[in-house]
Amino acid sequence: MFQLFLNSLVLLSLNVNHQLSTNPSTIPVEVIKKGQIIAQNSEKDEQFNQLKQELEKAGFEVILALPPKRGAYGLLQVSTKKIWINPVVFELNIALPTLIHESVHASQVCAGNGEIQVLGLTLKPMNQARPFFQGYTDTHRRDLEREAYTVQTQPNSFELALSLLRENCKLN
Ligand SMILES: [Zn+2]
Repeated sequence: MFQLFLNSLVLLSLNVNHQLSTNPSTIPVEVIKKGQIIAQNSEKDEQFNQLKQELEKAGFEVILALPPKRGAYGLLQVSTKKIWINPVVFELNIALPTLIHESVHASQVCAGNGEIQVLGLTLKPMNQARPFFQGYTDTHRRDLEREAYTVQTQPNSFELALSLLRENCKLN
């Protein structure tokens, strides 16, 4: 999301009402063997930590605490380059997609040199992702969210988010 906050600080968040994981078709299949589940979770943990580290290299502060906006799972404050990740996402098992979503906004901040601008991705959003950004009437905001939801719902979302961050924030 994108809204005015305090001194007109710009915020972007992944809203509770926009939770992708409530749609059964978007939930990765994690079933059957306990060992498999643990393996998948530890892979996700590793990816979460790796993306967090890259964000920090790019000058963003990742804060695992309640965001200053009620109902948000994740939030990026453009002016301070702070990213909040609501601890509840770990219980809901959506920590990685939440961080991926916010990392796309971080790439947009890098691309805009402190402002926020669209990356101009040519990727098409998955149909399931459309309802999450189509409600925005502000076209700039809708375009920003479209990119974040599009990346978040790709099968290779982690790799894609990481490479967008490295490219736009000039990390190597
Ligand atoms: Zn967003």
